[in-house]
Amino acid sequence: MNYSVNPIESDHVNLVSSERVLVAVGTNKTPKILLMDDSALARKIGRIAVQSAGYPDVTEAAGGQEALNILSAADCDIDVVLCDLMMPEMDGVQFLRHAAELPRRPALVFVSGGEAALLQGARDTAQARHFNVLGTIQKPLTAEAIGRLLGRFGKPEHKAKDAKTSEIVQDLERGIAERQFILHYQPKISVTGHKLVGVESLVRWQHPDHGLLPPGAFIDEAEKSGRIGALTEQIVTLALKQCAMWSIDGFTPKVSVNLSAYMLVDLDFPDRIANKAESLGVKAQQIVLEVTESGLFQDLANTLDILTRLRMKGFTLSIDDFGTGYSSMEQLRRVPFAELKIDRAFVHGAADNEKARAILDSTVQLGRSLNMTVVAEGAETQQDWDILEDAGVDLVQGYFVAKPMPDDAVPGWAESWKVAHVGS
Ligand code: C2E
Ligand code: CA
Ligand code: CA
Repeated sequence: MNYSVNPIESDHVNLVSSERVLVAVGTNKTPKILLMDDSALARKIGRIAVQSAGYPDVTEAAGGQEALNILSAADCDIDVVLCDLMMPEMDGVQFLRHAAELPRRPALVFVSGGEAALLQGARDTAQARHFNVLGTIQKPLTAEAIGRLLGRFGKPEHKAKDAKTSEIVQDLERGIAERQFILHYQPKISVTGHKLVGVESLVRWQHPDHGLLPPGAFIDEAEKSGRIGALTEQIVTLALKQCAMWSIDGFTPKVSVNLSAYMLVDLDFPDRIANKAESLGVKAQQIVLEVTESGLFQDLANTLDILTRLRMKGFTLSIDDFGTGYSSMEQLRRVPFAELKIDRAFVHGAADNEKARAILDSTVQLGRSLNMTVVAEGAETQQDWDILEDAGVDLVQGYFVAKPMPDDAVPGWAESWKVAHVGS
């Protein structure tokens, strides 16, 4: 690889980290960057910044059409596009619309000299089109800003992991096509009556080579690579079918389904899930949809549109992992959540941790005052349970009650739980 920094130009940017460059030279595996900007000067500054950040392989395009031509070439191996928003011939948002059709989508970084809201709008649009957006940068480009964002794609020294990642994505596609995903279910128990109120569905991948994989091994990849929509569609169908089958036997716990934040940009999702439930004879009232707090408000208008319509159709909305994200009271007020799940970070061990205890107590009060059902997840011990009971939590989920289990184990578990804790 013939990497060099022009010594005159390098005076204008942050110094090159020699370690990164060495790795780049040694492995020839850094991500390839396409720099798209109509200004020749901006491209020149951008090139220096990108290369100084340790990414020597930079191609330039003076506009959207030129970029699309490069990206649609059969041998194109561009990994990341630095996308200027304001371009005369085709703006960044129009570029997105066309780039969404590309067989191999690059990751994106948006760059603009305009207002921050514009960058946010472009980011939301790109995410709605299922691009992997690494971030946004206000002009002028600096090596530091680029280094930080491109680091999210995979630093030069992490390229081996990238190769593995794309293997996972191919695997995922096969897994989805061959329906290798199953759901396990974890009980939610009422604190006062010790009754089984619901079960949370948790996806598992029955991988032909690697055995049963937990969601932590693949959900992120599915989200980043745009496969989460197809995967969620299968998960929702599995959960609805399970709910229908249990109902036939008179077993009717509510069934919770985890929704990726990436589903909250798909405006047709509420109609699809409602139609599917109806066709399977499942009432929306049986289904709880869990959404994590952190993914909630990336695209406020669409998120509110989707969540409000899900609620109107009768689904219960639950805010998951509460306490780990950045919800404000205002956001909580705007979305019709009926359930609040306190993250397990504030549950297990709260007895010995004053701060966790304080957050637990105040979250329960918040949930109460907003008329929400408060669920604590991650209760592992009798001590956890006692604290939760004390704090006034409504429902408890955690290893102390039961670990997630296969669907056919649930009714039997429920029966023995009832005998032991509720009486007949
Ligand atoms: P989550 O929604 O917070 O789910 C609870 C996780 O905590 C589950 O991990 C569960 O097995 C684990 N857990 C339950 N009780 C305890 C406990 O007492 N102690 C500890 N240490 N852990 C406990 P799991 O099944 O590995 O799922 C991890 C995450 O993956 C979930 O977190 C959820 O964010 C995501 N996920 C799971 N299923 C789906 C799905 O169908 N769709 C999507 N989009 N995400 C899913
Ligand atoms: Ca959950
Ligand atoms: Ca959670």
